[in-house]
Parts: sequence; structure tokens; C-alpha cells
Amino acid sequence: MDLDLTPEQELIRKTARDFAEREIAPYAADYDRKEEFPRAILEKMKPLGFLGAPIPQEYGGMGVDAVSYVLIIEEIARADSSVRSIISVNCSLVGLTILKWGTEEQKRSWLPRIASGESLGCFGLTEPGSGSDAASLQTRAKRDGDNWVLNGTKMFITNGTVAGVALVMAQTDPSLGAKGIAAFVVPTETPGFKANEIHGKLGLRASSTAELVLTDVRVPDSAMLGGIGDGMKVALSALDNGRVGLGASCVGLAQACLDAALTYSKDRKQFGKPIAGFQLIQEMLAEMHVEIEAARLLVWRAASLKDKGIRNTLEASVAKFYASEAAVKCANLAIQVHGGYGYIDEYPVGRYLRDARVTTLYEGTSQIQKLIIGRHLTGENAFV
Ligand SMILES: Cc1cc2nc3c(=O)[nH]c(=O)nc-3n(C[C@H](O)[C@H](O)[C@H](O)COP(=O)(O)OP(=O)(O)OC[C@H]3O[C@@H](n4cnc5c(N)ncnc54)[C@H](O)[C@@H]3O)c2cc1C
Repeated sequence: MDLDLTPEQELIRKTARDFAEREIAPYAADYDRKEEFPRAILEKMKPLGFLGAPIPQEYGGMGVDAVSYVLIIEEIARADSSVRSIISVNCSLVGLTILKWGTEEQKRSWLPRIASGESLGCFGLTEPGSGSDAASLQTRAKRDGDNWVLNGTKMFITNGTVAGVALVMAQTDPSLGAKGIAAFVVPTETPGFKANEIHGKLGLRASSTAELVLTDVRVPDSAMLGGIGDGMKVALSALDNGRVGLGASCVGLAQACLDAALTYSKDRKQFGKPIAGFQLIQEMLAEMHVEIEAARLLVWRAASLKDKGIRNTLEASVAKFYASEAAVKCANLAIQVHGGYGYIDEYPVGRYLRDARVTTLYEGTSQIQKLIIGRHLTGENAFV
């Protein structure tokens, strides 16, 4: 693996960093306090193409490679995890999944709108009663002539209230178990589709998280992505992409924690000198640095395997697990470096901890990542 970025990748990283520092970071605390969806930021971002970064140019995206994509995600997350979550669900979980599984007609119909941000995507797998055990989902898809009629409830769906299109996993025949699950591309304007905003989140407060209620949502046969029985494969392939992006976002968030801790430690004086001069403060900074470097390399490795066309389920899981735990650790350490000032929202580190906390939970909890890694190591499947 070549650890040097190409000049094009360096340029993309610089473009993303400049935009994030100028147009996202200064407003992040305000959007977070108001729990407001950052529409104005997305509008400014549209001309840069980041909303459809990894989607090929022929379908309206930037067509960047996976390494470039994780560089963009890292830089945006360094400025604001809420903005990052909007992009990564749109690109990794929805756009790339339609690209992989869609018919030419489905790709031509949806990808340009997703890539431009005209129709943001959301990904509907989790339900009130099924999270880690996703295959036990209860949303039903019943055949009716040339249509499918969907009924059920999805829970914790990022972009749910702002999306124009939802990727919905539903059970076509409960007697078939996981083999009966299918994925559907559902326009959110379809009658019977309702998104209820979930308020009171610990973090990611500027992002939309929703309960989706589907009541007799009627879609044509052509809305199915893949075939009957492909639904879990569709969802798991989305999560392979999602976990690499999420790993990158954790690296960006952890980097923001270190940046803030470094700045503060050089500024804050105790015992007559900057606290940066104390070895126990340097120990915390050093620990953060090492965690970030290690996580970044794991993310780059998983991304570079994707660029080579090699399946990266294990590496994506390793990267997501390590980077998310590192993000939580770094956010905690950043607060420790800030002392009492880390506990009030005059400084960003409290928000960083709140935003980091979800990363060990979603797109597979840390326990689920360990089970995936364990299955790869032993060949034994702990999920059945
Ligand atoms: C802000 C936010 C945004 C989200 N966005 C989306 C989205 O866009 N789309 C979507 O589909 N979902 C989304 N989710 C849902 C998320 O993916 C789930 O919350 C996650 O998969 C965990 O499921 P659960 O919450 O039902 O927890 P559970 O599965 O009930 O887990 C509870 C605990 O049990 C542990 N556990 C479960 N099974 C095992 C096992 N076999 N062995 C050991 N421990 C186990 C878990 O690790 C966890 O600690 C989002 C969640 C949040 C909070």
C-alpha cells in the first residue's frame, strides 16, 4: 500500500479543509445549540460536489476514489460531525448502494439527484424492535399486482425528515427469514410515507434523525433494488461503505479534539507557565496523536482496498471499531486538558464528546464490530 497521497488527493484534501474551516466550523456551535438543520451550509457546498463525491461523473457526482472520499469526510467531520453525517449517509449508505445494486434506469433516475443534493438520501434499516439483529426487521412488503405495498416503522433514520429518497429494507415473506428481505428505493413524497423528527439527541443535534412510518406505501416493481432475498446483502454492502466513511469521520472528530487541546494547552497558564509544558498534559496529547495516526491508517487501508476492488468487510469493521473508540477517548481527553472550561459550551470539546458518543453505537455497535472481526478470525458465526 502506498501511504503517500497523490497530488490530486492532496488538492481535494486542501479544498475540503479550506471550505470546512471557512464555511462550516465557525457556525457549528450555533447550529448545534439551535438544533437546526444546516441548509445554508449544504447550499454553499453544492458547487464543490461533496454531496456526491464518490458517485461517478456520468451519474452527476465528482467520481473521486475512495481514499479521496475519506479525506473529504475527515475534513468535514473535523469542522462539524452533523454536516458530515448528512453527506456520509447520502453518499456511502444510499448513493454508492444504488450504484452497486441499481439497474441502469434506477441509477439514471436517482444518482444525479442524490449527488447534487436535490434529493438527499436516507437509509432505513433499523426499527424500534430490531437494531443489531437487523434481519429480524418487521416492515412488510406485500405484492399487489405490479406494485409492492410497504407497512412498518423505521427508527433513528439519519436525514429522515429532509430526504427525497429512502432506501427501505422490508420483509416480503416472513417464512423465509433473512432470505425474504428486499430493498426498495422509495420517494419520500409517496403517499403514506411519514417522517417524525426525533428530538433530544445527546449529539449530532444539527442533523435530522427520524422515525419513519410507512402506511400502505405503494411502489412499483421497479423500485426494488436487487431481488427478493437480496435485502440484507444490499444493507450489508451499504454498511461496508458506511463504516469506512464513519471511520474517517471519527478521525476528523478526534483530530478536532487534538487541535482544540493543543491550542488550549499552549494558552492556559497554571503554576506560572503554559500547561502544555507539563508532562502529564503532554502524555494526554501524545495518546491522542497516536490514536489518530493509527485510526487514520486503518481508514486509509480500508479505503485503498475498495479502490483496488477488493472486498473490505473486515478492514472496514476494524477501522470503524478502532476509530470510533479513539474518537470517544480523544474527546474525553480533550475535555480533561481543558479542565473545567471543557465542561461548558464556550469551548467545542463538550460538543465533540456528545457527537463522538454515537459513533460506537451506529452502523453496528462496537460489540457487533467485534463479532464481525471474530467471525472473520475464527470462521464461527456468532450471529446465528
Ligand atoms: C443518531 C443515530 C442515527 C442513526 N442513523 C441510522 C440510519 O440512518 N439508518 C439506520 O438504519 N439506523 C440508524 N441508526 C440506528 C443504529 O444503527 C442502531 O441504533 C444500532 O445499530 C444499534 O441498534 P439498537 O439501538 O437497536 O441497539 P441494540 O441492538 O438493542 O443493542 C443494545 C446493546 O446490546 C448489544 N448487543 C446487541 N446484540 C449483541 C450481541 N449479539 N452480542 C453482544 N452484544 C450485543 C449492543 O452492542 C448494545 O450495547 C442511528 C442511530 C442513532 C443513535
